[in-house]
Amino acid sequence: MTIIDGKKISQEIKNEVKQAAEKLKSEKGIIPGLAFILVGENPASQSYVKSKGKACEELGFYSVTERVPATISESELLEMVERFNKDEKIHGILVQLPLPKHINEQKVIEAISPAKDVDGFHPASVGKMMIGIDTFYPCTPYGIVELLKRSNIDPSGKHVVVVGRSNIVGKPIANMLVQKKEWANAIVTIAHTAAKDLSYYTKQADILIAAVGKANAITKEMVKRGAVVIDVGINRVEDATTKTGYKIVGDVDFDGVKEVASAITPVPGGVGQMTIAMLMVNTLHAAGGKLA
Ligand code: NDP
Repeated sequence: MTIIDGKKISQEIKNEVKQAAEKLKSEKGIIPGLAFILVGENPASQSYVKSKGKACEELGFYSVTERVPATISESELLEMVERFNKDEKIHGILVQLPLPKHINEQKVIEAISPAKDVDGFHPASVGKMMIGIDTFYPCTPYGIVELLKRSNIDPSGKHVVVVGRSNIVGKPIANMLVQKKEWANAIVTIAHTAAKDLSYYTKQADILIAAVGKANAITKEMVKRGAVVIDVGINRVEDATTKTGYKIVGDVDFDGVKEVASAITPVPGGVGQMTIAMLMVNTLHAAGGKLA
């Protein structure tokens, strides 16, 4: 049984991005630039933006963070996005979601120039992904594809079962892996809450991807012996033994499932680490750079 080391693989990718960014700077004088817009005081959003900003520093990217109060109007936010669309130093724009209820999230996503859509959420990026044209892929699914690739797990001809159909994880990873591409070419099933017997589907998976958002949603009995299990979940559960009083776990009962899986991603230290690395890859691409 292999534990897929997202920390190690994401660091490898970041090292490659750093080198490519140095080349871009020395050859063309371009420094990849990323703008973050953080609306309100959501602690999880604050922590995500902080980690992404740190990655920019680490890789020699230029970054700016606009912190605005939750009371900002939709039109003010749209103006801010437009300002970054026009800013030549900025190659990628990331509006940290979720947004306050009075702001139409979709409208904001669509205001970002598709050329700077490093989150891969713009309908133009989603449409290109769907028809198999290279584009900005959403960072978490893109990270899963890279994890598989760099762990020598070939999805071609395998039955991939994705549990979850969100626009940011479930649907795009299913879409990417079904493409007729050398890093994909899988047979894909998407399961969700309408499944009467979830394990009927999960037990068929050669590669099982859990993007459910519930601790222990996937147990040992639901997994075929020898399957590869990718755990996307990030769930906070109470734990009196920790300083904070909680710990982070995935959607998969790791200790049970590792007894039957051939490979598994841990939480933390799996998919989560990849998301930021792929954001950096997308921003490098947006700036005109390329990985070696
Ligand atoms: P959503 O809540 O948007 O989607 C969850 C999906 O799981 C839904 O499609 C839902 O079905 C399905 N689902 C929920 N319960 C069940 C069940 N009992 N049986 C079958 N299907 C079920 O979550 P996200 O996709 O945004 O995120 C999923 C998890 O991944 C979360 O823990 C999140 O924190 C984490 N995450 C991690 C990232 C990373 O960087 N590692 C990035 C993004 C997310 P239905 O559509 O029918 O409601």
